[in-house]
Amino acid sequence: MVIGVPKEIKNNENRVALTPAGVAELRKHGHTVYVQVNAGVGSGFEDGEYIAAGAQMLPTIEDVYGIAEMIMKVKEPIAQEYNLIKENQLLFTYFHFASSEELTHAMIERKAICLAYETVEKTDRSLPLLVPMSEVAGRMAIQEGAKYLEKPQKGRGILLGGVPGVKPAKVLVLGGGIVGTQAARMAAGLGAHVTLMDISLPRLRYLADVMPANVDTMMSNDYNIREEVQQADLIVGAVLIPGAKAPHLVTRDMLKLMRPGTVLVDVAVDQGGCIETCRPTTHEDPTYVIDDVVHYCVANMPGAVPYTSTVALTNATLPYALQLANKGWQQACRDNAELRLGLNVVGGKIVYKGVADAFGLPL
Ligand code: NAD
Repeated sequence: MVIGVPKEIKNNENRVALTPAGVAELRKHGHTVYVQVNAGVGSGFEDGEYIAAGAQMLPTIEDVYGIAEMIMKVKEPIAQEYNLIKENQLLFTYFHFASSEELTHAMIERKAICLAYETVEKTDRSLPLLVPMSEVAGRMAIQEGAKYLEKPQKGRGILLGGVPGVKPAKVLVLGGGIVGTQAARMAAGLGAHVTLMDISLPRLRYLADVMPANVDTMMSNDYNIREEVQQADLIVGAVLIPGAKAPHLVTRDMLKLMRPGTVLVDVAVDQGGCIETCRPTTHEDPTYVIDDVVHYCVANMPGAVPYTSTVALTNATLPYALQLANKGWQQACRDNAELRLGLNVVGGKIVYKGVADAFGLPL
């Protein structure tokens, strides 16, 4: 199959859909890979590395769309790419159709085959192409939290791990899924004292088994949260209720109970946030202060670490891309139900219920 990797053109997007290692793997299976010049530089991959791995470089995005049977991307196509997409061209990327009616109509009109990373789903209902970004965001939540706890950043001025003779910081993590688990591990590794809350008792049992000794588990409810926020130095919001807005677990009035300089990192901001006073911020201006409490609410945290995010994402997408390239999308989707669930728009029709429902359109 002929595969094309354009350079991402969405504002501030430095990731790329394929690493040189991914190119080499596709080449090994007999496929042809075209990569746009400079597509990998934002993630630290030079054109020479792609060429050494067997890719052919093309100067423009038009060239890449013009030649490829399968386009591999990171973000959804933006308006200036719509007209480049050809009928029956396979697009394998994040789409998040339900949040953009314009994109949905554009893809219907172009009669493309849209296989969305975010709806590829395993039988245990996990989303294998979203997990890597949650892992990145969870670990980053602690790195950012540690930074904003510093006094010049308006934080409490406490080191997460303390030093011999000085108590470590207290970290409260709300939600013990992918993000919460990674955050708790990272904070514990730095020596902080961590409290990890979830509403699922089986999940808490599992976490209590696998977490290091400086992580306590606790049932998530208003009473416990109200008590814990009073001692926490860093609070990480990491809850998810699939298909719904995040519940406001940390309410406006709780800010008054916290100590000045407490830092809140609401990773769930992309689902509305689980901290009532959270509003989305950017990497350029990531924080704001309310009631002496520092809020960090960046909606695309992995964007700040494109090398790690690109490699993590492509580790997860490559096995699926290989199936699509080896068998063609129809046979690959017949053989693999996980991939089949990734199909959102096919040849001018919506085939994913969640997208049809979002806009009251027929399946
Ligand atoms: P997940 O499904 O793995 O985990 C969510 C956890 O929240 C589950 O264990 C669930 O039991 C728990 N939960 C639900 N209600 C709760 C409550 N009331 N109290 C405590 N726990 C509760 O989800 P995830 O992959 O860890 O993602 C968490 C959030 O992070 C999502 O909103 C996701 O979209 C977001 N996210 C944001 C970024 C970013 O850049 N900001 C990046 C990746 C993920």
